[in-house]
Amino acid sequence: MRSKSHSGSQGPLPEGPVRSCIGCGARRAQAELTRVALGPEGEVVVDRERRLPGRGAYLCGAGCVTAALKRKAFGRAFRGKAGKVDPSKLGQAWESGSGP
Ligand SMILES: [Zn+2]
Repeated sequence: MRSKSHSGSQGPLPEGPVRSCIGCGARRAQAELTRVALGPEGEVVVDRERRLPGRGAYLCGAGCVTAALKRKAFGRAFRGKAGKVDPSKLGQAWESGSGP
């Protein structure tokens, strides 16, 4: 088997849309990031299916939830509409969905 390799140098950016993690600011492919959005009560929830309407933000891992909190990034990402952010709850949702 041959590994697929492009001969051209297109740069390190992955294919597809690129988003910035609101926690650490890393730029990654959208597919590599986890979307968070606002739930029905205005709380920030993990949106694995990327189906929740409205604005979303992207994080690369549960650890970045805390970083985003410190930077008040949720308030910015959701224009002040984000309600209470519970990092432990978010972290749990993260872990529960990351398994095979
Ligand atoms: Zn991050």
